[in-house]
Amino acid sequence: IKIKVTEIPIPVSFAAAFEGERIRKNDMFAEFGGNKTEAWELVVKKELSEVEDHKIDIIGPNIDEVEADGVVRLPLAVIVKIAGKAMEDDFEPVLERRFHYFMNYIEGIMHVGQRDMSWVRISKDAYEKGFRLEHIGEVLYAKMKDEFESVVDKCEITIITDAAKVSELKGEALARYEARDERLASLVDESVDTFYSCNLCQSFAPAHVCVVTPERLGLCGAVSWLDAKATKELDPTGPCQPIVKGECLDDRNGIWASVNETVSEISQGAVENVTLYSILEDPMTSCGCFECICGIMPEANGFVIVNREFSGITPVGMTFGELASMTGGGVQTPGFMGHGRHFISSKKFAYAEGGPERIVWMPKELKEYVAEKLNASVKELTGIENFTDMICDETIANDSEGVLAFLEEKGHPALSMDCVM
Ligand code: SF4
Ligand code: ZN
Repeated sequence: IKIKVTEIPIPVSFAAAFEGERIRKNDMFAEFGGNKTEAWELVVKKELSEVEDHKIDIIGPNIDEVEADGVVRLPLAVIVKIAGKAMEDDFEPVLERRFHYFMNYIEGIMHVGQRDMSWVRISKDAYEKGFRLEHIGEVLYAKMKDEFESVVDKCEITIITDAAKVSELKGEALARYEARDERLASLVDESVDTFYSCNLCQSFAPAHVCVVTPERLGLCGAVSWLDAKATKELDPTGPCQPIVKGECLDDRNGIWASVNETVSEISQGAVENVTLYSILEDPMTSCGCFECICGIMPEANGFVIVNREFSGITPVGMTFGELASMTGGGVQTPGFMGHGRHFISSKKFAYAEGGPERIVWMPKELKEYVAEKLNASVKELTGIENFTDMICDETIANDSEGVLAFLEEKGHPALSMDCVM
């Protein structure tokens, strides 16, 4: 029998409404991480016999046990051990990413960052109400059990503030993060036998279905293939359903009969054919929450990408908002497509149209955000080094002539590729 935790035994309030709460310097009682001390967090899968359910250990001083002249500053390691028959290594990062929300939902606690970049503040007010480190454990315990009940049979929490111990165990955490990154990097569409559908956005875009693959995350940017897989496990009848790939009908455009059947079924016949790798031919539909929109700049023979945060005009003569109004709503708009930020550096990005080396313009912020991974992908595909140096941005030009002049000066590959239209 699984026990559902409803009340969390902590001396302050707990609600999603506290998520945006900032704790300023003057209101702060204790601080961990934020480049001042070491701080990291880890969810780790263990065997059932290795985990004692609801055990919360504090190793090192608690916040009321430190003599401080001003703010209490301590290193911090938060380790959550999870055991469960349905738990998988792949779910570790999915659960770990939720720390951020669970901790921010606590009144008087602020959490920023992740992994070994975490940063936590506890307010004076929370301290005065009796909040101590074990209460972080209570919250994590309750939420892990509550939100991930189908995979979490047992959950044990260790909170460490002992400097030597935090450093000593950090190596294990780093090794775990690295193993996950390698796993994610090694995942390609060809290496799995299942993709996932997501229909969470059908409430406002009834014909919209995202098909989530290892190399193509949901267009909102929040649903990776691992997330979709975990969601299916955690909520079997929920928004993410498996699509057993079967035979690929066209590996250039990315066409699978199974994908077409699923999309057609979930969209109730509104969309019958979808390619996963083309922007021109039967592209995936877009709901409204895409992080980016990609469109064609015919005269440059390439793609322009703009992210939601960019308010200026793009070289296709439209802003993000204007592009969004013609791209969204769950319809297929060949030549325009919503997508997640991380899809840009995927080798499957516009694969049918020649891949990511077709990209000719992006806002500077987005370009910097994707640079490392995009450069690595394009180098692997074409041998070109530092490809993002060839991509124009708003600080260089956002009018057609200026963009073209820049591309020519840089010898951008799109200029000599097959005609995109
Ligand atoms: Fe699901 Fe995100 Fe796609 Fe919406 S945009 S259907 S939440 S993957
Ligand atoms: Zn959406």
